[in-house]
Amino acid sequence: MSERLLVRAGVLALPLGPQRADILCEGGRIVAVGRDLDSPGARVIHADGLAVGPGFIDVHVHGGGGHSFFTQDRSRIEAYAAWAPRNGVTSFLVSTVGNGPGESEAILQALAPVVGSTGGAEVLGFHMEGPFINPARHGAFPPGMLRTPSVAEWERYAAAAGGAIRQVTLAPELPGALPLIRAIERAGAIPAMGHTDATTVESARGFEAGIRHVTHLFNAMRPIHQREGGPIVAALLEDRATCELICDGAHVDPAPLRMAYRVLGPERTVVVTDNLHLAGQEATSGRFAGEEVTVSGAKAAKADGTIVGSVATMDQHFRNAVEFLGIDMATAFRLCAANPARIAGVAGRKGRLEPGFDADLVVLDSDLRVRATVCRGEVAFDGLATELTRD
Ligand SMILES: [Zn+2]
Repeated sequence: MSERLLVRAGVLALPLGPQRADILCEGGRIVAVGRDLDSPGARVIHADGLAVGPGFIDVHVHGGGGHSFFTQDRSRIEAYAAWAPRNGVTSFLVSTVGNGPGESEAILQALAPVVGSTGGAEVLGFHMEGPFINPARHGAFPPGMLRTPSVAEWERYAAAAGGAIRQVTLAPELPGALPLIRAIERAGAIPAMGHTDATTVESARGFEAGIRHVTHLFNAMRPIHQREGGPIVAALLEDRATCELICDGAHVDPAPLRMAYRVLGPERTVVVTDNLHLAGQEATSGRFAGEEVTVSGAKAAKADGTIVGSVATMDQHFRNAVEFLGIDMATAFRLCAANPARIAGVAGRKGRLEPGFDADLVVLDSDLRVRATVCRGEVAFDGLATELTRD
C-alpha cells in the first residue's frame, strides 16, 4: 500500500478546462481533487506554477532507454517500466511479435507475468504488431516473419499471453482476415488496421468486421491517391475508429498530421511513440530485427532509408502534438492519456484526474517538460529538486 501523497496547487488538466487545485492520493488512487486539501503527514509535491495531468499511456512502444521488447527476458520490460516515468509515461502496452509463430508464443508466454506489475509504469498488456500484416507494407519487419491470417494461430497467441493481448495490428485485405477480426473482437481485444495495402472498399469491409483502431495512420500503409483513397481516407471517414499518430516530426510531416487531426478531432486521436529501444539514448546506431539502424535526429532508419521506429520520447510527442496539431495542453492530455486508456481497456481507472482513478500523474513546467511523475501513488520520477516535505 502506497503512502499518502498530496500534489499541491498545480494547474490541473481537467475535462472542463484548466483549474488550480490540489490532488490527494492514497492507496494508489486519487481520493480527492479540490482547493486547499489538508492531509497531515502526507508526502507533498509542491506544484505551484506547474501543470498536472494524467500520466501518459503509450499503446505502441517497442522499448526505450536501451531496453527492447523483442525479448523473452521479462527483466527488460521491468527495466523499461522503471525508466519510462522520466518521460511522463505511467502505463503502456508491450508492442511485440516474434520471428515466427513459435517465437511469438514464447515471447508472450515469457512476458505475460509482468502484466499488471507496477514497479514504475504499469504494464497493461500486449499490442501484437503483426504477424498478420501485408508483405507489401511490412515496413521494418522482415518479410519472413509475416503470416497469413489464422484464427487457430491467433487463439494460440491469446492463450500464451494469458488473455492479456489488448491490440492486434493486421491487414484486413489478406485472405482470412475478416474471420480473424471477428475472433479478436470476441476475445475482448481491439482489432487494428495497419501495415496494410487495403483499398477503400477492403478497409470498409475491415471496419464492418470489427476494426476499431488504426495503427500509425499514414505509415506502412497505401498512400492516398485521388482515385483510390485507401486505408487513410477510409480511416479518417470511419467515425467508429480511433487513429494513432506518431508525432515525432520524422514519421509524418506536421501538415498531414494537422489535416488528419482536423478530421479526427480530440475524441478519435491517439498519440503513440512507436519507440525503439534506442529512444532516449545517446547511441547513434543499433540493431533492429537483425539489421543495422542509424539514428539521426528523431529518426531511426535502416541503410535503405526505411524508418524502423521513433526515438523521440513520449514527452517530446506531447510537446509536438501541442505544436503540430495546434491544440491546448488539456486536449493534448486527452490524446496522450484518456484516449489511449480506451484502447488499453483501462478507461474506467486511468487517463483522468478524478477521485477513484489510479493516481497516475505527470507534472509539467511551462515548457511542458516533465518535472515529476507519479505511478499508482508512488513518486516514480522526481525532477523537481524541490523539497518534498511532511506537513
Ligand atoms: Zn511499431
